Amino acid sequence: VKHVNQFLINIGSVARHPGARREIKLQGQLPDLRISFARVEENEPINLEAVLEQVYEGILVTGTLLTRWHGECRRCLGPAEGDLSADIRELYAEGMNDELVYEMAGDELDLEQLVHDVCILSLPLAPLCRTDCKGICPDCGVNLNTENCICVKGIDARWDKLSLLAKQDEN
Ligand SMILES: [Zn+2]
Ligand SMILES: [Zn+2]
Repeated sequence: VKHVNQFLINIGSVARHPGARREIKLQGQLPDLRISFARVEENEPINLEAVLEQVYEGILVTGTLLTRWHGECRRCLGPAEGDLSADIRELYAEGMNDELVYEMAGDELDLEQLVHDVCILSLPLAPLCRTDCKGICPDCGVNLNTENCICVKGIDARWDKLSLLAKQDEN
């Protein structure tokens, strides 16, 4: 399947007109948006709303990116998902090799790399299925969100020993 760049736009009306602005609303999908435990699915719509502005150094892109992420909960390993939203403020310039600046060519502005970078940087490093996820019992492996385990732990174990001693005393 041929990849169609849905984030490539013509900016003829803005480019090289100092002070000119243009609002854009783009929606597209991108492959390969994943880090260890979270990803943006290939068919997940990514919405980009931004203002393009011709400034002295090039085209300034200011706006918001919105999509959904899916992943694995770090505590219980169950499915996790959430909104991914990020503010964008990046400069596109012609023929500059500064790593902090995205390059543009002629009247075409390719926002795909920017969208890719923003998604990767905004994915959660330690996703949770919910903020109060109880995780998995390290002893018996049951998911403590859905089951109660019968393992005796910590302070309970000490109390059990005390009650055992008390019983022995009775005998
Ligand atoms: Zn969880
Ligand atoms: Zn257990």
